[in-house]
Amino acid sequence: GGLVVFPTETVYGLGADATNPEATSNIYKAKGRPSDNPLIIHISDPKDAEEYSFTNSTYYSLAERFMPGPLTVILPSKDTVPLTTRGGLDTVAIRCPENPIAKEFIKLCNVAIAAPSANISGSPSPTSFEYAYADMNGRVDAIIDGGDCDFGLESTIVKVNDDGSLTMLRPGKITKEDIESIGLKVIIADAVIDTLKDDEKAISPGMKYKHYAPIAPVVLLDGTKEQIVNYIRENSSVKTNIAILAYKEESEYIKRLINDIDVYEFGTRGDETTQAHLLFKLLRDTDKKNYSVIYAPLPQKSGIGLALYNRMIRAAAHNIIRL
Ligand code: AMP
Ligand code: MG
Repeated sequence: GGLVVFPTETVYGLGADATNPEATSNIYKAKGRPSDNPLIIHISDPKDAEEYSFTNSTYYSLAERFMPGPLTVILPSKDTVPLTTRGGLDTVAIRCPENPIAKEFIKLCNVAIAAPSANISGSPSPTSFEYAYADMNGRVDAIIDGGDCDFGLESTIVKVNDDGSLTMLRPGKITKEDIESIGLKVIIADAVIDTLKDDEKAISPGMKYKHYAPIAPVVLLDGTKEQIVNYIRENSSVKTNIAILAYKEESEYIKRLINDIDVYEFGTRGDETTQAHLLFKLLRDTDKKNYSVIYAPLPQKSGIGLALYNRMIRAAAHNIIRL
């Protein structure tokens, strides 16, 4: 019935017994999360999905290749999962994490663990014990210290359609290309890369909320290092107290040409695994200073780049400048 923060390979989770509606409603309270935004339930063995959902052959193809791992699959729910846990939907999101502490914790609980990211709703997901503790200490019964999360962005979410194809609702480490390599068809939901129109109903309720945002406004710049420097020098309305997430090989150049800028190194251009690992940590680090604006480069929309793109356009509230 209590709440336990635990590490996974993606981000820290805020867990409770998935079958206990009082416990899972306390998750929403601890996070300040709207109650129509359903929770992912975590199992320690892919076969445990039978207890909570109506599985199919597509689920087992995905499980065989990608579980345990950072992939969440949406399936029709069984009544063992209370409506509170699944935000009132008739489907349930299932994931089998590979982090050994997460696996052991779920196994010892002997029940599925419902867990969203262990951050206050809206802020970047915690990828280290330090940030999980900062958000959740005093709101939960226990916090397990598992050091830094391996990947650093939340799991890929796919919904299994009636025809056996998949709709990707959230991109992550398991890419469209990875899933297509086992012969399944993947459609990327529009909201992964676009702004949701006012009248559009979100397939995944979480997609409609502002997300991952640090305190200072984030602006994404789409251009070369020269264009980025020129833009900041000539067009930026604020001239002091600026931060930038910059690719490693471009950071010296930026520091040389712009005074009064704090540069946060963001992996080399093209090294999306390192960028994914650093993104939420760097966004949270910026909260320690009182920046007037944070600039960051716009990622590519393929491979793991798509996961970065999806998180960064939300952190920036879709504020993108094409140079
Ligand atoms: P988080 O728990 O913070 O990683 O967010 C979980 C995401 O999974 C949210 O965007 C939810 O909207 C989404 N999700 C959970 N359950 C379902 C479901 N049954 N159908 C669609 N999306 C879901
Ligand atoms: Mg979250």
